[in-house]
Amino acid sequence: MSHPCLSCGACCAHYRVGFHWSEAAPELGGHVPAALAEVLDGHRLAMRGTWAERPRCIALDAEIGVRACCTIHPLRPSVCREVRPSWEDARGPSPQCDRARLAHGLPALAPADWAADRRIGIEVTVLPAAPAVATGHEAPAATLPLAG
Ligand code: SF4
Ligand code: SF4
Repeated sequence: MSHPCLSCGACCAHYRVGFHWSEAAPELGGHVPAALAEVLDGHRLAMRGTWAERPRCIALDAEIGVRACCTIHPLRPSVCREVRPSWEDARGPSPQCDRARLAHGLPALAPADWAADRRIGIEVTVLPAAPAVATGHEAPAATLPLAG
């Protein structure tokens, strides 16, 4: 199973994505492409398309609920990085995620949506070699958890 966000994109087409202007200022270490942002107020920019009656980020390549890709993913604003999908790492619901999905007619994510994404733990039991002479102090069996 792939990450649930890759078949969603709802939050990128629901919220106004505002962030401090310095995030688009390379001389200050900013990396958001300035051409994809517009002035929101004296201190903030907004991703183009998100400050609209029906928001949809200009950087979003998606069919909401089917497939989604942020075309500037490594360069996206900090606020985008902070949106947490519900139940990722079993951390419970995320109101931002749930609200955006419901607004697009999608059900809120549930723990089961991550089930196939979990790492499978495999346990290997290593038995100690049989001692030549029983001493009463044989090493115990060791269990090695391996990440699948
Ligand atoms: S609404 Fe939730 S599941 Fe959908 S892209 Fe945003 S964080 Fe991911
Ligand atoms: S910059 Fe990327 S992650 Fe942020 S709203 Fe736009 S498409 Fe979504």
